[in-house]
Amino acid sequence: MNIGPYLVQQPALPNAFDPSYECTLCDRSFVSETALYSHCRFTTQHDWCERCNRVFVSSAARDEHFRASSRHNICPTCGRLQDFETAADLQRHLEDFHFCCSCCNLNHSSAEKLRLHDVAVHNLCIKCGDYFANANDLRMHQQTHQPRVMRCYGCNHTFKSFSGMLIHLESGACASRMTEAEINNLAHECYQSRKYINNWAEGWMYRCPSCYKEFVKLSALYQHAEDVQDCGHACLDKLQVWIAKSI
Ligand SMILES: [Zn+2]
Ligand SMILES: [Zn+2]
Ligand SMILES: [Zn+2]
Ligand SMILES: [Zn+2]
Ligand SMILES: [Zn+2]
Ligand SMILES: [Zn+2]
Ligand SMILES: [Zn+2]
Repeated sequence: MNIGPYLVQQPALPNAFDPSYECTLCDRSFVSETALYSHCRFTTQHDWCERCNRVFVSSAARDEHFRASSRHNICPTCGRLQDFETAADLQRHLEDFHFCCSCCNLNHSSAEKLRLHDVAVHNLCIKCGDYFANANDLRMHQQTHQPRVMRCYGCNHTFKSFSGMLIHLESGACASRMTEAEINNLAHECYQSRKYINNWAEGWMYRCPSCYKEFVKLSALYQHAEDVQDCGHACLDKLQVWIAKSI
């Protein structure tokens, strides 16, 4: 019986002590399969694949087998031939050592480069690690990570900030039917308006009360005040209250 290339099992003989296993490469016989395999494992005459129980005439032939066989998990990138225990182990190695994108079969020079690739090509959300079908789905999804805390004074929409609500009001999308013109009117009517509104002759309508930067829209002024820590101002807080009461 053939038990693999170069290894032979002879039919059982009446005398149990007769050697019945043979390595044809070395022309040697063994009393048991265990003894034969032990020879294969430790001899320097030829090479051995433990996983497949196969002998090879040379280490080159065995390496060739490692690369070709689906039972082995060999990194195609590394010079040394390491046979990973499972396909998942190899996968992990590819990701950890070669920053490999398995979808594109593409190595990267750093973890950061792989991450950028995942975001750009596979629409990865860095916050939760989920992947999306396209950039638009990713954008929509990412909004779920933004806490929305401010409810619109005129409808049920919620916003991350007052400036976000103002953009909504200025756009005319609010159920309250607010418009940009009405927002501007409210801003004018508020008793501290001279602190944040230019004279018409001076061009831009709104002006940061702290740094004097100018803005065409009230939402832009609030966005600026939210972004720049030193530019928040009591008069803007009062105007916000005034708008809340007037809608
Ligand atoms: Zn042998
Ligand atoms: Zn093998
Ligand atoms: Zn490797
Ligand atoms: Zn990829
Ligand atoms: Zn996410
Ligand atoms: Zn609204
Ligand atoms: Zn400012």
